[in-house]
Amino acid sequence: MFNQYNLEEIRDRARASFIGLAVGDALGATVEFMTSTEIAAQYGTFRDIIGGGWLRLKPGLVTDDTEMALCIARAIIRSQTWSMDAVAENFAAWLKGRPVDCGDTCRKGIRRYMVHGTLEAPPNQWDAGNGAAMRLLPAALFSLPDGQRMNKYILEQAHITHNNPVSDAACICLGSMIHLALMGASKSRLRREADGLVARFPTFAFEPYRGLATGYVVDTMQTVFHWFFRGKNFEDCLVGTVNQGADADTTGAICGMLAGAYYGMEGIPGRWIKKMDKSVIAEIEQVTDKLIAACPLGGF
Ligand code: MN
Ligand code: MN
Repeated sequence: MFNQYNLEEIRDRARASFIGLAVGDALGATVEFMTSTEIAAQYGTFRDIIGGGWLRLKPGLVTDDTEMALCIARAIIRSQTWSMDAVAENFAAWLKGRPVDCGDTCRKGIRRYMVHGTLEAPPNQWDAGNGAAMRLLPAALFSLPDGQRMNKYILEQAHITHNNPVSDAACICLGSMIHLALMGASKSRLRREADGLVARFPTFAFEPYRGLATGYVVDTMQTVFHWFFRGKNFEDCLVGTVNQGADADTTGAICGMLAGAYYGMEGIPGRWIKKMDKSVIAEIEQVTDKLIAACPLGGF
């Protein structure tokens, strides 16, 4: 059913999704924790990868969002299967290496694993941050196009740090949208997935848009949905998203993975790719190709 041409296109969309994540992370990091008003006063419209921000990043470097996704990707590739032990070990090694940033819930969950060896955080109504959603891409790529497998992988990687029904719902919806976009679905088809999430969890309603873009996964997803569905191209989607400020690297990363899967490599502005750290992009291309080669669809 899937000919060579389709697999080529899927590989291109998959690369664009992972590179889109990194580009959104690198772009948004500069304005993370600023308000939209502060961004407008300082930059007009903020639209270039220039580094800086509260983390004082070099232009083109990425943060925890991309790094944790790479931890999952490397674990899959080294294990040649889905192994939560390998994912957890990579998270632990990453945290010991003093990453440039790490969210509180992620840190708490990884430390619990390091002390107790448990792969699942206890359910917690407050652990509804966006940390599980921001890093789920490798689980979506490695399961393509099997929805059941995707749900299992996505929730297992989430629950190491975030065991919360609102986070779970956001992760499953995002994973489904990425699967659909990789297979070439239209925006109206993707919109049905977002509407389905809102039907099950009305708190995710994003019309009218409230303009909140915090690390609370509900605010994060509202911002991504609002700008992804109204954006005319990859750049539009990302610029709208990060100019909301707040958790801009993570809203940027999530919008970037979705818009990348939807628009493909030709959608990502060359000036952004050029600014990115070369070794980050090289590793992303390599792991993405391996994940797609090893997924149920790639093995067809
Ligand atoms: Mn970050
Ligand atoms: Mn962030």
